[in-house]
Amino acid sequence: MASLVRSDTQLNQKSYYEASVQRPAVCPALAESLNVDVVVVGAGFSGLSAALELAQRGLSVVVLEADRIGSGASGRNGGQAIVGFASGQGPFEDQLGAADAQRAWDMSLEAIDLIDARIQQHGMACDRVNGYVYVADSARKQRALLDEMEGLQRRGIEVDWAEGADLPRLINSPRYVAAAREQRSGHLHPLKYALGLARAAQAAGVRIFEHSPVTSLQRGATLLASTAQGQVRARFGVLAGNCMLAEHGPAVAPEIASRIMPVGTYIVGTAPLDPELCARLIPRNAAVCDNNFVLDYFRFSADHRMLFGGRVSYTTRTPTNLSALMARRMAEVFPALAQVPIEFVWGGFVDISMNRAPDFGRLGDNVYYLQGFSGHGVALTGLAGQLVAEAVAGQAGRFDVFARLEHHRFPGGPLLRTPSLALGMLWHRLRDAL
Ligand SMILES: Cc1cc2nc3c(=O)[nH]c(=O)nc-3n(C[C@H](O)[C@H](O)[C@H](O)COP(=O)(O)OP(=O)(O)OC[C@H]3O[C@@H](n4cnc5c(N)ncnc54)[C@H](O)[C@@H]3O)c2cc1C
Repeated sequence: MASLVRSDTQLNQKSYYEASVQRPAVCPALAESLNVDVVVVGAGFSGLSAALELAQRGLSVVVLEADRIGSGASGRNGGQAIVGFASGQGPFEDQLGAADAQRAWDMSLEAIDLIDARIQQHGMACDRVNGYVYVADSARKQRALLDEMEGLQRRGIEVDWAEGADLPRLINSPRYVAAAREQRSGHLHPLKYALGLARAAQAAGVRIFEHSPVTSLQRGATLLASTAQGQVRARFGVLAGNCMLAEHGPAVAPEIASRIMPVGTYIVGTAPLDPELCARLIPRNAAVCDNNFVLDYFRFSADHRMLFGGRVSYTTRTPTNLSALMARRMAEVFPALAQVPIEFVWGGFVDISMNRAPDFGRLGDNVYYLQGFSGHGVALTGLAGQLVAEAVAGQAGRFDVFARLEHHRFPGGPLLRTPSLALGMLWHRLRDAL
């Protein structure tokens, strides 16, 4: 087993999300030869969303998942469903022009609405809450936040700004100097949502196989996806394997592997807190994120635990003493939580692209890939799946807005990629401290 997979698997062992769902019985591993319209690699939000949409359009679909449904980033993340892109609008405006950059922005809003539509349509109980607070911890970052919020307002998002004595209206923390709240973004329980997507896809006729890593994909008019004990022939393929695609199947799509970089990020979950304390610390239960380069992101769960995320690792190694480090960081933000027991600590890998814009495209005519969500995938993955289904059905216009974005490889090859990125990031970390 490759080290990234091992590290990733270990990082999911003490997850609050896994502890707070009742998983259905495991889906069998693929042990036969099947012929379908579409084979999807990966049962995270992207793959499940594509599968659901394709099946709803009448195609036969098989999903092959190396581990369990939602066991990747989709079942472990901060649950923050956020408007826009990790890159901001920059790469879209620079490369595609104003009109298509606006289309991309509009689709990022549609991605949030799609979550709510699916929750309603498929009866997914996944603790969905609206409301998002952006925070800044220095005067320099307050100015940057103001710029960003003015950008949101120009694009039609209402923003409620607070600073100084007014700050506790939005967040009660001595760490921050300014905050801004908007209602389009929000949060949810990501594993409940992933399992809900899987249920909806299965109800639409999708067959899902767990513990079935795809080790090779033979291309051509008919694709042949192989696992240890089975094969799937298909007219179309969707690669939605995120950072682990190249680890489970190095030969599946080597040409896209170096366009993303796995970056570790971590979350701790406290014991349940007094609901009145929660309401005081973050009024109206928003999700919160700062505007540092290495950011802190946090929110309360439905059972009133603080889920506090942050730190990053640019190597595959998990930082030592992770729980204590995260707890200290949390206590700097909320001193009232300094003595609260930490009951969960977990993490995963984010698929960052060089310019932090999503990386969607095709290999040949009939293999689609979705990657590079850069820590901004809770909402966008759902729409990405829909865009693939539209493209397979012959309407590729919206998919191609994203596919036209150019992406660069991380330099240095598999061995040097990580150290050179780590070095580059040191500069950003130092800057965060100013
Ligand atoms: C700790 C953490 C916090 C985050 N917080 C946020 C947040 O608050 N907001 C936000 O917007 N985004 C966040 N993200 C990012 C977000 O979770 C991802 O962008 C999103 O879940 C990606 O979904 P996906 O379906 O593309 O990938 P994944 O959910 O990783 O799914 C890929 C699946 O493919 C499978 N797979 C890989 N290779 C193969 C193969 N060869 N054969 C078969 N199966 C394979 C994997 O096992 C995995 O299950 C966070 C990520 C992490 C790790």
